Amino acid sequence: MSYNIAIDGPAGAGKSTIAKLIAKKKGFVYVDTGAMYRAMALYFLEEGISADDSEKIAAATDHVDVTISYENGEQVVWLNGRNVNGLIRTEEVSKMASKSSTNGAVRKKLVELQQALAQKESVVMDGRDIGTCVLPNADVKVYLTASSHVRAVRRYEELKAKGEACDLDVIEKDIIDRDYQDMHRELSPLKQADDAVLLDSSDMTIEQVADAIIKMCD
Ligand code: C5P
Repeated sequence: MSYNIAIDGPAGAGKSTIAKLIAKKKGFVYVDTGAMYRAMALYFLEEGISADDSEKIAAATDHVDVTISYENGEQVVWLNGRNVNGLIRTEEVSKMASKSSTNGAVRKKLVELQQALAQKESVVMDGRDIGTCVLPNADVKVYLTASSHVRAVRRYEELKAKGEACDLDVIEKDIIDRDYQDMHRELSPLKQADDAVLLDSSDMTIEQVADAIIKMCD
């Protein structure tokens, strides 16, 4: 039987860093579901499909094949056979992913893939709807959050380290907009599952959060 850890929460709460660390410590597979929504979003952008054209987005999902594989423990996302890891972390893709992920056809396709992965392997899966929809029977469920300011500063530092020009206020506004969109959509909105443990990482180190979650697995 596979063991499943679900981590949900808003953008920039530290989900992926923490999920990766836990996966390493437990010897589980880390599944970054946001990257799958991002790969789909990249396809829609490349095809020139408008984020508001839900019919075209739904029809286009038939032509999109998103799969993942692992290289040295790192998740690689493949879009129609092309490794797109280096293309999906832009603000443009973030915005499109937040919009196109409201589409039922997009969600159905990716949720099926995610459920199949979790059945086969012990996973630490992060996203927005893992504890509520994708893995309602997960062994451990965490809702990880942090203040929008702390999350914006983390993103700002990340971009600065990459040498990208950025403005803290713009980043915080984008984060707040994206949270609003994710929390207020009709399908699988971001919310804490009734049986999820709430963790606020604003004043915690990565190690402290990871240790707290690992303790929940005992
Ligand atoms: O986690 P990340 O920021 O990479 O996710 C990008 C976008 O994909 C989110 O803003 C959200 O709209 C969508 N998403 C989702 N369900 C998930 C994971 C991500 O709707 N399980």
